[in-house]
Amino acid sequence: MDIAVIGSNMVDLITYTSTMPKAGETLEAPDFALGCGGKGANQAVAAAKLGANVMMVSKVGEDLFAENTIRNLQQFGVDTQHVTVARGTSSGVAPIFVDDQSQNRILIIKGANARLTPADIDAAAEELKACRLLVLQLEIPLPTVYHAITFARQHGIQVILNPAPAVAGLDIDYACQCDFFMPNETELEILTGMPVSSDDEVLRAGQMLLGRGLKNLIITLGSRGSVWMQGDAVYRVEPVPVKAVDTSGAGDAFIGCFAHFLIQHGDIPRAMQSASAFAACSVTGRGTQRSYPDADAFHRFLT
Ligand code: ATP
Repeated sequence: MDIAVIGSNMVDLITYTSTMPKAGETLEAPDFALGCGGKGANQAVAAAKLGANVMMVSKVGEDLFAENTIRNLQQFGVDTQHVTVARGTSSGVAPIFVDDQSQNRILIIKGANARLTPADIDAAAEELKACRLLVLQLEIPLPTVYHAITFARQHGIQVILNPAPAVAGLDIDYACQCDFFMPNETELEILTGMPVSSDDEVLRAGQMLLGRGLKNLIITLGSRGSVWMQGDAVYRVEPVPVKAVDTSGAGDAFIGCFAHFLIQHGDIPRAMQSASAFAACSVTGRGTQRSYPDADAFHRFLT
């Protein structure tokens, strides 16, 4: 395996409705869709679609969604040997209500994802040791994230930490042990308590984080592109201009693609350029994983 994603699987339960029910009211909604998501799974699928050998360490619930989640990962070639069932728990689910104006109302139930423990990492130790890169997010318990970082350090494995969703109390000492720390602008704002609405503000907030000892900070800025900061050096990647249809999962697309190219050639600016193009391509389609191009479609997008 090249890449191990230790993270979440979620099932999106999407109801399309023009009217939201009031308390005590029952309404009929015109449409419904079921989607596979979760930041961990999205990033694993993005890298796998590009041809990376990817394994996941993750927990699913003891319910109907578990089999569907595992089958979905396998269909993209993600190794699921260490995607296991948390007994007596539901899978992670996200009931989402989308109205006529495409406004979302989302509830997140972490379910089995909250049951991924350091012991699950130890159980996967042999396979993890053979990986070159660990990719982590914060939809699983922090002690599990910290254990994974410590494990990676002990075994000389590179680590990307995507601090999403922003969690109060993230121990920055662990973030500093990671090779890449990759927040979006909202997470940067929450982590630093500083404004991030202009480029100058983003760089100031980034410098503040770097000052605490981070090695490489890569900030994604939506339609404003992305930036890599290391010491005093700043490398800016402009967005690839596209007609955006649905930007959900763009950050996960960026990170999964960056991970793939990082271990392919180790050239950070080139990996960011590829990630930027891959994420731009993903926002031209609806959904998250289904909007990610495979290697052929990505090649066509680039030419
Ligand atoms: P999500 O939480 O929906 O996964 P995010 O907020 O973590 O997304 P963003 O910073 O919005 O991630 O986007 C990630 C990257 O995707 C950006 O750095 C950029 O390269 C690309 N991107 C996002 N939106 C657009 C857009 N409208 N046009 C072109 N590229 C885009």
